[in-house]
Amino acid sequence: MLKELNLSALSCSELKGVGPKIAECLARLGIVSVQDVLFHLPSRYQDKTRVRAIASLRPGESALIEGEIIAKDSPKGGKTQLLLHLQDGKGFIQLRFFHVVLAQIKALNLGVKLRCFGEVRFGVKGFEMVHPEYRVIHPGEIVPIDASLTPVYPTTDGLHQSTLRRLTEQALSLMMCDKKLNILSGELCGFSDLKDALLYVHRPPVDANQYQLLEGKHPAQQRLAFEELLAHRLSLLQARQKQVMLVAPSFPGSSSLLQQLLQHLPFQLTRAQQRVLQEIQHDLSHSRPMLRLIQGDVGCGKTVIAALAALQAIDGGYQVAVMAPTEILAEQHRHNFTNWLTPLGIKVAYLSSSLKTSEKNAALDSIANHNNIVAIGTHALFQDHVIFLNLGLIIVDEQHRFGVEQRLKLKKKAIELHPHQLIMTATPIPRTLAMTAYADLDHSIIDELPPGRKPVKTVIIGNNRRDEVVERVKQQCLGGHQCYWVCTLIEESEVLQCQAAEEAAQQLKQDLPELVVELIHGRIKPEQKELIMQAFKAGKINVLVATTVIEVGVDVPNANLMIIENPERLGLSQLHQLRGRVGRGSAQSFCVLLYHHPLSQHAKERLEILRDCSDGFAVAEKDLELRGPGEMLGTKQSGLISFRMADIVRDRALLPQVQALAADMMQSQSELVDPLIERWLGVKTVYRQV
Ligand code: ADP
Ligand code: MG
Repeated sequence: MLKELNLSALSCSELKGVGPKIAECLARLGIVSVQDVLFHLPSRYQDKTRVRAIASLRPGESALIEGEIIAKDSPKGGKTQLLLHLQDGKGFIQLRFFHVVLAQIKALNLGVKLRCFGEVRFGVKGFEMVHPEYRVIHPGEIVPIDASLTPVYPTTDGLHQSTLRRLTEQALSLMMCDKKLNILSGELCGFSDLKDALLYVHRPPVDANQYQLLEGKHPAQQRLAFEELLAHRLSLLQARQKQVMLVAPSFPGSSSLLQQLLQHLPFQLTRAQQRVLQEIQHDLSHSRPMLRLIQGDVGCGKTVIAALAALQAIDGGYQVAVMAPTEILAEQHRHNFTNWLTPLGIKVAYLSSSLKTSEKNAALDSIANHNNIVAIGTHALFQDHVIFLNLGLIIVDEQHRFGVEQRLKLKKKAIELHPHQLIMTATPIPRTLAMTAYADLDHSIIDELPPGRKPVKTVIIGNNRRDEVVERVKQQCLGGHQCYWVCTLIEESEVLQCQAAEEAAQQLKQDLPELVVELIHGRIKPEQKELIMQAFKAGKINVLVATTVIEVGVDVPNANLMIIENPERLGLSQLHQLRGRVGRGSAQSFCVLLYHHPLSQHAKERLEILRDCSDGFAVAEKDLELRGPGEMLGTKQSGLISFRMADIVRDRALLPQVQALAADMMQSQSELVDPLIERWLGVKTVYRQV
């Protein structure tokens, strides 16, 4: 009889073939126990179950092919390079090898038959495979073809797929001796046994439904995805529970400073703003640290809410930090906060990496010694040498730009008590994402724009009609309004983007001699930027040519026309945010999406979504569907939501059930929570403390 095992307590070094070196590689992947090996799931599969006709291949797919070498070439000078031309009946493909050894070159001669597996690319001379796996098929030899899909595991330097396969093989056989492995009993997603599910995904059977497997939709995969989503959800709920036990300074009552600012404002808060302010005040009046996310479409008035919250904390004798993702935004906050707060006797300190040393030292000194202070800045705020006297509230604007680690760093700045945190974002977070990635935050939504705003009219125009668009800019500006002209580039290259903007500005200056055209982009000196923004706000500039640096936050109500060049290069949410720079005044605003010919059908449909929809939440849902969560939140932050099996867009139908079960388990089966979290999240749980 087999003895009973607990795989979560069994070190993976017990497996055959795991010495110190392999163990170290495994540890890098978060694999410590044998259970971890089991839950290190294939990220995809290779289909080597059929030989494909070369003529039927599509670029981007991986395929198994067979053919005869009909030409052989070593490109000039490249002694270690080898080019082969492979033919099967009607099809023809080029194989490209680098760093080949002599024996290889000798073996691969004309007339030799090869079987290869690799990714098909579109090269200079038609289809090619770079470094395919291959084997020679000798005359008369029959080489069997795989009967089932080949799992491909996420890996790291020094760890081969074959090693991972050997290890999972052993773990799968040990699995049968672990009676406690199945934590959630009963049928889930139409699949009843966890062990069967694991076996299925690690070693797809010969008769597996390949289509389902490749798409991640097989019940075995769905069952695992369900468990994983559940584990994430539980870890959020647990983090939340721990947060509740920390102690923050409390700021009860209605602050008189707050009342004073309300009286001085030239407008009344909207009902949505009032509601959200109340939610914040309620949080701040308790000693449980607030962790609240304010979502609100661009222009809904989040800044003033932040200022009011700051006053509540200042009145309670604590300091406030306000972080913005870009210098331009931080400067704009400084401007607003200074206007609002200095008349009330509150000091505003400003920190950015571009300050002179003397200015920086003065700001650091105030932050270290004064109570009545709001410190505003970019990431410069959370460098190690910044010491806060007593930080009570952290406000983070446009949070999707901030990495998790950065938030963690800033939180460490509060010495004794835990500060409250208020996070503001203008990228509405789709419900599906919010349920998985942000379940540990309280949410407030400002779902109302200040009165008098009209939705921006959006049109899609090809750049063959650029002249008309320029004429439109002219008319609009001569009529007393102002205009943004935004340049985008596909590459993440700031330099290229700036160049494009420079050229566009040059051209517009020529085309519109009667107007003042100015340029702003990320490589212009901060003082210069500040001057340009002030001049634009003051109406002294008619057309502001910009890169996407103006994406977030910039507020000039008189600007009511925005041209976005090459909008097809940006995500929908980002375009929506850009567009939010106009439509802030009472006049009708327009946004022209000036695309580059030719525009694919898919790209056209995307732009049409934006044209027809002015609701940021709906746009964000679409964006998530089209591009996935990593793109939406910025890949940097995807540490928040990197799943092994689940895909929140594909599997979102599972979420309501996941949510319900998680809530239930926290109540009545709390002993199962830790094992599930450990199994799926392992070392990553530290991040959830943020
Ligand atoms: P966002 O939410 O995008 O950060 P802002 O805070 O920049 O928006 O606000 C946009 C503009 O609306 C600002 O000029 C702000 O002063 C103004 N504003 C905010 N709240 C109101 C309100 N209740 N009524 C009128 N204008 C408002
Ligand atoms: Mg803002």
